[in-house]
Amino acid sequence: MDAQEFREAANATIDEIITYFDTLGSRNVVSTVEPGYLRKLLPDEAPQEGEPWAAIHKDMEAKIMPGITHWNHPGFHAFFPCASSYPSLLGELYSAALTTAAFNWICSPAVTELETVVLDWLAKTLGLPACYLSTGPTRGGGVIQGSASEAVLTAMVAARDKYLRETVPPLGSGEGASVTEEEYEERVMVKKSRMVALATTLTHSSAKKAALILGCRFRAIRVREEDGYALTREGLAAALAECRAQGLEPFFLAATLGTTDVCSVDDFEGISAALADHVPPGAPGEVWVHVDAAYAGAALVCPEVQESTRIGLVERFHSFDMNMHKWLLVNFDASCFFVRNREWLTQALSVNQAVYGNKASDGGLVTDYREWQIPLGRRFRSLKIWFVLRSYGVKGLQEHIRRTMKMGEDFAGALKDRSDLFEIVSGPSFALTVFRLVAKSEGASLEERNTQTRALYEKVNASGKMWLTSTELDGRFAIRLVTAVRTTEPEHIQTAIKTLVEIAEEVLRG
Ligand code: PLP
Repeated sequence: MDAQEFREAANATIDEIITYFDTLGSRNVVSTVEPGYLRKLLPDEAPQEGEPWAAIHKDMEAKIMPGITHWNHPGFHAFFPCASSYPSLLGELYSAALTTAAFNWICSPAVTELETVVLDWLAKTLGLPACYLSTGPTRGGGVIQGSASEAVLTAMVAARDKYLRETVPPLGSGEGASVTEEEYEERVMVKKSRMVALATTLTHSSAKKAALILGCRFRAIRVREEDGYALTREGLAAALAECRAQGLEPFFLAATLGTTDVCSVDDFEGISAALADHVPPGAPGEVWVHVDAAYAGAALVCPEVQESTRIGLVERFHSFDMNMHKWLLVNFDASCFFVRNREWLTQALSVNQAVYGNKASDGGLVTDYREWQIPLGRRFRSLKIWFVLRSYGVKGLQEHIRRTMKMGEDFAGALKDRSDLFEIVSGPSFALTVFRLVAKSEGASLEERNTQTRALYEKVNASGKMWLTSTELDGRFAIRLVTAVRTTEPEHIQTAIKTLVEIAEEVLRG
C-alpha cells in the first residue's frame, strides 16, 4: 500500500466508521455466529502474494462484522461499557502512526511527559487528594496501565515488596548485619508464606487472580446485603483477628468503589479505623489498601459524587485505579493507576539491564515508566486521554456522567412503578440497577423464582435489540442493567422497559 492508496483507504474507512456509529442501533447487539464460524470463512494459510486493499476491505463487512458484539450499541446494558468517542479514536490513530515502545523517557519524551501531565489533570478532576499528584507532597503520581487487573497486580507486587522491606531486617545492617544471603532469602520466603491478601466476596476477580499470579494466600471477606454489600469496619476487624489467630499476616486489601455485581462502595472510614487498630498508619507492616474504582471512578468527575463517596478519605490509602475506557469516553485501554508514593513502585519494579541505560535515566532526571509497570514497552495512550479531556472539557464529562446516571434512575423508577412485576435487588447505583421478577405465587421457592427471572433474562436477550448480564447474590439470580453507553438515549430506556414489561407479564402468566 503506497501513500496515495493509504490516503484513499483511510478516508473511506473514516466515512465508514461514522456511518457505523450513525446506524449502530439497527444492528443486533450481540453477535449470533456459531463458535468456529471464522475458520470456515478464511483460507488455511496466509496468502503468498499481497492482496489489494479492496479485497481485504470487502471481508471486513462480510466476514468480521458478523462476529462483532457491539459494545457501543444503544441497547448495550451488559457488564460495564467499553467507551469510545471521536476524539479518542483520533488519539488512537496518531498513537498507531507514531508507534513507540516508550518505556524510558528518552524513547519519546512527549509520551512520558504528556502521561504525567494528563494523569495529574485527571487526579484533580476526580477530586483525588494531592498525595496522588506527581507534584504532590508525598511524591505520588499516576501511570496508565492496560487494565484494572494489571493495576491491582502491580499494586500487590509493590505492597508485598514494601511489607517485606518493613518486616524482614535488611541484609547487611541492624538485625540483618550478621545474616548471610541464603539466610536472608530463607527469612523472606518464610515471611512470604505467612502473608495474605484480603478482599471481599464482591471484589472483582482480578484481585484473586493477582494473588494467584503472585502465589500468595488470599481471603475474601463476606459482605452482606444489610450493609449494602460494602466492607465494614466490623467485617474487616473480624477478618484481621481471624488472620492473626491463624498466624497469617495481612499485607494488602483490595477495597472497591463500585463493585461489578451491584456497584456498592466499601466503607472507607470503617476500613481505615479497623486498620489503625491492627497496625497504625505509616508504621512498619501496615496493610496496603488499593481502591479499585475501575468503572464507578468515572463518576468522580462530578463534585456531588466526590462528596457522596467521601473520596478525600483515599488519602489514608496507598493506591487508586479507574478505567477511563469504561465510562469516561476514552477507548480501551486506559486504566489510570495512582500511587501515593511512586518509590513504592520503583523500589519493587526497577530491574536494570545495560541495554536500557541512558544519560537522562542514569542522571535520575526523568520518569521511566517501565519501572512503574509489569511490561517493558508501552503505547502512547495519554494522547487519546488528552484529546478527550480537551474536546469534552470537565463540564462535558460531567454532563455525560449525569445524563447516563439519570437514565439509570429513570429506569429504576419505572421498575418501581411496576412493583407488581419487578423487585429491585440493588440500585440504581452509578447507572446500574439489579433486579428480579416478583414471585409468581406466594410461597414460591428460591429455585422457582430464579428459574422465572432467568426465563425473563434469556427472552429479553434473545430479542437481539439489547444485551443484559446477570449475577447471583446469596443464591438469588438477578439481572443487571447498566445505562452508561454514550449512544444510549432515554428513548432506548423506554424501549427496554416496554420489552421487559411485556416479557415479564408473559413469564408470570406462565
Ligand atoms: N474491577 C472492577 C470493579 C470491574 O468491574 C472490572 C471489570 O468490569 C475490573 C476490575 C477488571 O477490569 P479490567 O478489564 O480493566 O481488568
